[in-house]
Amino acid sequence: KETPSSLIMIFGATGDLAKRKLFPSLYHLYRKGRLGNNFAVIGTARRPWTHEELKENVKDSVLTSIGKSENIDEFVSHFYYQAHDVKNTESYIELKKLADKLDEQYSLNGNRIFYLAMAPEFFGTIAEHLKTDGLNDTKGFKRLVIEKPFGHDLESAKTLNAQIRKAFNEEEIYRIDHYLGKAMVQNIEVIRFANALFEPLWNNRYISNIQITSSEVLGVEERARYYETSGALRDMVQNHMLQMVALLAMEPPIKLSTDEIRSEKVRVFRALRPIEGDHVKEYFVRGQYGSGQIDGKDVPAYRNELNVDPASNTETFVAGKLMIDNFRWAGVPFYIRTGKRMETKSTKIVIQFKDIPMNLYYNTDHQLAPNLLVIHIQPEEGITLHLNAKKSGQHMETTPVKLNFSNTSTHGINTPEAYEKLLDDCLRGDATNFAHWDEVALSWNFVDKISEVWENKTQTEFPNYASGTMGPKASDQLLEKDGFFWWPVT
Ligand code: NAD
Repeated sequence: KETPSSLIMIFGATGDLAKRKLFPSLYHLYRKGRLGNNFAVIGTARRPWTHEELKENVKDSVLTSIGKSENIDEFVSHFYYQAHDVKNTESYIELKKLADKLDEQYSLNGNRIFYLAMAPEFFGTIAEHLKTDGLNDTKGFKRLVIEKPFGHDLESAKTLNAQIRKAFNEEEIYRIDHYLGKAMVQNIEVIRFANALFEPLWNNRYISNIQITSSEVLGVEERARYYETSGALRDMVQNHMLQMVALLAMEPPIKLSTDEIRSEKVRVFRALRPIEGDHVKEYFVRGQYGSGQIDGKDVPAYRNELNVDPASNTETFVAGKLMIDNFRWAGVPFYIRTGKRMETKSTKIVIQFKDIPMNLYYNTDHQLAPNLLVIHIQPEEGITLHLNAKKSGQHMETTPVKLNFSNTSTHGINTPEAYEKLLDDCLRGDATNFAHWDEVALSWNFVDKISEVWENKTQTEFPNYASGTMGPKASDQLLEKDGFFWWPVT
């Protein structure tokens, strides 16, 4: 699709997300010619910066993250700053004046993207003001890009949604789930639907279980105030983990359009077996990190981190078993686990195929390793297929072999950052890789039933995993009960 002209308004332009992700991504798009020349960016935040201060900040952000700055002066000449108080109508009126002026100056045809890179409690207020103060009353397109978290539970998500829907239609709302911008997450569909090899096997006859791990080495860092009210279930499972489940489990869409893909994902969420009440402890495990060692250095327990309640009941780890009750997946567990302060930083999906009916080959332990398809999401990007082959030598002995495809080494290390891809999609009006309200609502509905049980029952054994490990014992037992184990992701 051709490059549209657009005004991009970033709320929270002095913040961390803008600096680390949005400015460098816009710069990449600019350099690739994906932004064109008919664009302008207005940064807003509380601080009384000048245009120059924002420009300097953008330059600094680009240099720090990319190390190069060709055409940087041309690029930043498109940036403007306006101090802004999100609750104050006067502020929006000033913003509108600047927006209208830039619209003329850069021939933007009234196209506007509003990117809310701010604390979520302001999302609703800003959306309402955009409408009442006339900023989204424009002859071009208007799009609202909204960061996570989208609500705290189903109720609050509904309230927020009602607020933003007063100002924008569902088609105009781009709910960011940055996992959906990752190259290998987008590759899940291609692997499945562009290969004759996998789709015929992609069901309960041939797949024994699927494992999704998203582990971090970092602890809560400076985010404790938010994290204490959230925890891993809300922060990671409701959005990123369930989105990956949906992409793995969905039926082939009849075409690759936004509506078709999203509706297939919604059907997966509808088929997710609800886990509630007493079942929660059978299907879900929560953990909280204790002290431990990371890279030979001592790190504190979660409860001793800055701004964390010393008796905190917040989970920093979740493992779960999800069942999708439909024809394709009946009986196939989807295991997920995610946490902080784990042994390794890695997001990986392991698809374990069922054993063949009978082993004809001798090998040391008389067992054949199952076939695995591993999708490496980050930090490495690629696919590994684990097969069995003949060991060289006289005997008919087998040995496991791996077929590897590494995205990173084939295409260089510059696969676009998730935010770059998502901003590009938004500019071109493609909402496929953003979460539809129906997906958000169904996933909160699933997660709420688990949080409810956890919140009513204090976990007495916290902390229950040492920093630098792959989580509590109970996470391993969750699979052992079913005769499986977590495949190593290191
Ligand atoms: P931040 O605290 O660094 O920045 C917040 C911004 O909001 C600042 O520019 C601040 O000036 C502005 N602001 C705060 N109160 C204001 C007010 N009353 N009026 C006007 N401006 C105000 O936050 P962040 O880390 O950039 O996160 C922003 C959003 O992005 C959050 O929803 C967060 O969950 C999400 N997010 C951030 C990251 C990340 O890597 N930082 C990753 C994923 C999602």
